[in-house]
Amino acid sequence: MAQQPDVISMNKICKSFPLEIGGSQQVLFDITLDIHAGEFVSIMGPSGSGKSTCMNIIGALDTATSGVYKLYGRDISTMTADELATIRNEYIGFVFQNFNLLPKRNILDNVMLPLMYRGMSIQDRIIKSREMLKLVGLKDFETYLPTQLSGGMKQRVAIARALAGTPKLILADEPTGALDSKMGNEILQFFKKLNKELGITIVMITHEFDIAKYSDRLIHIYDGRITYDGKIPKSESDLMPKQKRNTK
Ligand code: ADP
Ligand code: MG
Repeated sequence: MAQQPDVISMNKICKSFPLEIGGSQQVLFDITLDIHAGEFVSIMGPSGSGKSTCMNIIGALDTATSGVYKLYGRDISTMTADELATIRNEYIGFVFQNFNLLPKRNILDNVMLPLMYRGMSIQDRIIKSREMLKLVGLKDFETYLPTQLSGGMKQRVAIARALAGTPKLILADEPTGALDSKMGNEILQFFKKLNKELGITIVMITHEFDIAKYSDRLIHIYDGRITYDGKIPKSESDLMPKQKRNTK
């Protein structure tokens, strides 16, 4: 059997943003990493370290300035906007810190909407969305509006919406950032379950070590560079190269 390509393969990815005053600001420096099918990885770093920039590239929402990025073996830089949208739609479920739900549409509609682009009949969309709401424990809430739900419930709706597209990969950017620790813990346990039981690859972005600990592998980014990539270390201080420790 042919070997499966890595889910994510980044080779010396750099990213710069142009500055209005002229010139540019480099945000990512030579990011090289591979993520395999079935992994639960967190990308951790302080605010401004480049995590979201990295996630946007991973999710094919943005492109690198230089370097090679392959998603499921396909070089993103050679793809058209339409091809990028297709690959996103086919493989990736996104979960964001602020849920990104449509406030005036009920929960069922929120889960169903992205399925419109998949050519599914309305009946199939309803069936699939109800199944996903049941999976996240919200089957009795389909007629509720997002504003009537707690933060934890809103995030579960967003996860149901991500799962409705049967993604192989979930990209979650600070998924518990707007939740208290109890609700955050519930969401993280749910990610663990999706990873272990359904084999979905999960890449989660966080700035907190205690949250990264829920994953099996931690990639630490500091000032746009990887300073650690491996198992969850005993202490947060192990994430920085020795000469940089204790300089915060
Ligand atoms: P993090 O998610 O780790 O907090 P970001 O990736 O959002 O960090 O940002 C890293 C750096 O890149 C910051 O200095 C931020 O201001 C800059 N940046 C991010 N997106 C843009 C953009 N679209 N244009 C210009 N600068 C950006
Ligand atoms: Mg961010």
